[in-house]
Amino acid sequence: MKEIILCKYGEIALKGLNKSTFESMMVKTIKRRLRPAGEFKITRSQSTLYVEPLGEEPDVDQFTDRLTKIFGIVKVCRSGVIEKDLGEICRQAPEYLAEQLEQARTFKVNAKRSDKGFPYKSPEICTEVGGAILERFPHLVVDVHEPDVIVNVEIRETAAYVHGRPIDGAGGIPVGSSGRAMLLLSGGIDSPVAGYMMARRGAVIQAVHFEAPPYTSDRARMKVEKLAGLITKYCGDIKFYCVPFTEIQMKIRANCPEELFTIIMRRLMMEIAQRLCEKEGDVQALVTGESLGQVASQTMYAMVCTDAACRMPVFRPCVGMDKSEIVEIARKIGTFETSILPYEDCCTVFTPKHPKTRPTLAEVEKAQAGFDFEPFIQKAVEDTEITVIKVS
Ligand code: ATP
Ligand code: MG
Repeated sequence: MKEIILCKYGEIALKGLNKSTFESMMVKTIKRRLRPAGEFKITRSQSTLYVEPLGEEPDVDQFTDRLTKIFGIVKVCRSGVIEKDLGEICRQAPEYLAEQLEQARTFKVNAKRSDKGFPYKSPEICTEVGGAILERFPHLVVDVHEPDVIVNVEIRETAAYVHGRPIDGAGGIPVGSSGRAMLLLSGGIDSPVAGYMMARRGAVIQAVHFEAPPYTSDRARMKVEKLAGLITKYCGDIKFYCVPFTEIQMKIRANCPEELFTIIMRRLMMEIAQRLCEKEGDVQALVTGESLGQVASQTMYAMVCTDAACRMPVFRPCVGMDKSEIVEIARKIGTFETSILPYEDCCTVFTPKHPKTRPTLAEVEKAQAGFDFEPFIQKAVEDTEITVIKVS
């Protein structure tokens, strides 16, 4: 049977006058993200987007999967397209939804008739289709309050559409509707999740990674690029900045007290990230994967010292989450397995034995002022490599 995929919006349906801007943004995203899956057609009507895979034998599974990763869509309904004839609907609907109906105990039929020229009204459609389903699956019982499966029949201008249980979409609001943010992306579990969460709230994500060759290897860098690649499914293309950080780390180690090493390194990462943003223009915020209290550099005292080095707002979407909650999201978005590969990060290579958990800004600033990092900051910015990681 020919199939079409209905995508229902969430919050953006409530956006009033801005709704069409949001819709256009989402249509643009859909066009870009579905392109690798083949040809298709999009139409919109009544807070629903209709995505029709075209061609000989379209890979509807792949289209559906890609759509469930696009922010702004809350429900994805894979539907059978049936000729607008009640007999045909009664014959084909139970077959199309056979798998779901076999496993259910209760069901109900919902009919919606937007083509008022169709000769049966909604209650009649429900009765007829419900009857046909009961005949084909005698174990089922009708339950209008809490059915296991709702069989939706939509009679539209073009055809009748039948769909059952919807698939959860990615939720959120369309990428591009909230501004642009620079994600500090390490190879760990938390920062890819942080990028995903900001994109879910509409931010365009670009990423900066600090590497410390030869202490960090090519494999470590490839791992980070792979992580960025994995979140493009949700975020779209990611502009990727890779900063050579070895020299700065060596200078910190040679010139600053060991217990403040991490916090000074963090401040210099922020400084470089901001210079890259300023150079590019139109980037509004920094994003990190920090979670309050997770390690010494993530206490509130440490964050105060980090933020004092920032001219831009720093968003930390994981700040109030437990590790287990972050891991759960990492698993859901498919980054966890890559994040736990055991390659070194520039932070772990130079970790002090006893980092200070309660640094004061005054002592950190004093320690940092003891050496002129400026020429090294400038050099790191100049030598940064920029690539674009494309949606695959
Ligand atoms: P993650 O799992 O994201 O690596 P983490 O728990 O290992 O986090 P830290 O290593 O303290 O925590 O890093 C805190 C945050 O600093 C990271 O979430 C990331 O945003 C940023 N960060 C750390 N190392 C790097 C790096 N090499 N390049 C870019 N950003 C980094
Ligand atoms: Mg890390």
